[in-house]
Amino acid sequence: MEIEPELNGSMAQAQKITPRAKDFSEWYNDVIMQAELADYSPVRGCMVIRPHGYRLWELMQRALDDMFKATGHQNAYFPLFIPQSFLAKEAEHVEGFAKEVAIVTHTRLRATGKDGAAAIAVDPSSALEEPLVVRPTSETIIYAMFAKWIQSYRDLPLLLNQWANVVRWELRTRMFLRTTEFLWQEGHTAHADHDDAEREARMILGLYRRFAEEWMAMPVITGVKTEGEKFAGALRTYAIEALMQDNKALQAGTTHNLGQNFAKAFDVKYQTAAGGLDYVWNTSWGVSTRLIGGLIMTHGDDNGFIAPPRLAPLQVVIVPIWKTDEERGQVSGVGGQVKAALGKAGFRVELDLRDSLKPGAKYYEWEGKGVPLRLEIGPRDVAAGHVMAARRTGGKAPITLDGLVEAVGTALDEIQAGLLAAARQRREANSIRSVTKDQFVAFIREKGGFAYAGFCGSGDCEAQIKEETSATVRVLPDPEFRTAPAPTTCVWCGQPSVAEAVWAQAY
Ligand SMILES: [Zn+2]
Repeated sequence: MEIEPELNGSMAQAQKITPRAKDFSEWYNDVIMQAELADYSPVRGCMVIRPHGYRLWELMQRALDDMFKATGHQNAYFPLFIPQSFLAKEAEHVEGFAKEVAIVTHTRLRATGKDGAAAIAVDPSSALEEPLVVRPTSETIIYAMFAKWIQSYRDLPLLLNQWANVVRWELRTRMFLRTTEFLWQEGHTAHADHDDAEREARMILGLYRRFAEEWMAMPVITGVKTEGEKFAGALRTYAIEALMQDNKALQAGTTHNLGQNFAKAFDVKYQTAAGGLDYVWNTSWGVSTRLIGGLIMTHGDDNGFIAPPRLAPLQVVIVPIWKTDEERGQVSGVGGQVKAALGKAGFRVELDLRDSLKPGAKYYEWEGKGVPLRLEIGPRDVAAGHVMAARRTGGKAPITLDGLVEAVGTALDEIQAGLLAAARQRREANSIRSVTKDQFVAFIREKGGFAYAGFCGSGDCEAQIKEETSATVRVLPDPEFRTAPAPTTCVWCGQPSVAEAVWAQAY
């Protein structure tokens, strides 16, 4: 094979990514840099999302946005700044976010240069009367507006979503998983009663699960958070939780039934159908660019990123292989036809005609970027009327040019389904049920994964388990994830179990 030397070269280069088994955290950063998803920025704790990563986010946004609109939600946009007093109106909420907010106190700088040196400082005369908080989340400012817009039961439900950036002043940051500024969507809704708000929080949880599994190929368990882990100011918080390859859990999305807490704080009242006056019931829900971190840690391998086909910025890359100019003309001609046919069918496809790189180096680059399917076209392939299709998840087989578009679609579907199945199998292989306290502790400390066990509901047990194992209750799982028969005693204290819980160390 004429491409053998380049392939060897590619394997040597691939060693640049730290293997997962050696250092998962290093591997994670290497994959991001190699795939050019993001980069470190001059601002500590903030990252730059590069075009390949941003395209991925755009595709996620589009899929989610379509789902939100199909369920009756509309997009709106609220200010980045929130008056400081707003945050203080809901007691639990302010406590939850007080320690991680950025605050704007002044609006001007002034030159203080001495001896020709350029220097600037805050102009003390520009102090704001009321400081502004850079939104860590937008419940307060949105419900202040809801109070203005909602008068009657006819105005309900009010179903809004906002695509925005938020700022939470984190001390320990990791690209995509925890950054000071991140991108997300936050849904905010108002309802006439508890049941309608509950239905909404539950419906969005199901929507998030569908997105995680059908688009990201990332299996999740759903359930409700404990009192200790719920959102600051919520009545109940639901979450989707995924298990990463290092056996740590990732909270990938949350939905909250906020009850009437915020409605009371912001005086969001409406006239009921019966003529009385009542506070609305709110929900809020969000997923963020953290999902990209989840995608990387669910599917990536020691060669780099693996994008599930439905969200891959580039689904197919065509790499022609040539030695002579005559061959170049021949293979690039066929490559152009293949690209046109696939593009016309709606696939995201690129033809890599760069003269500056050998095929092996191109393979290495596109593998690192996670492209699910690579089509190689050499002179012998052209003569045989086929292309060689190499899957990012392994395996290589010829696809005849006749019927190529359909075969590529099938291959991408199989890759998508294979990624979900593999991730689900790995999660189940790293979950334990019905264990003793000793087994529970050993599992969490030594191996990691999802530990399903009985829970008495006591905050003390939760705190002790966290203290001794760093594990937290990820969710009290929904029925379909529960163990049968249900555990009868708390894995920690031996008292009667009130609910099964899933524990894990988490990001
Ligand atoms: Zn207990």
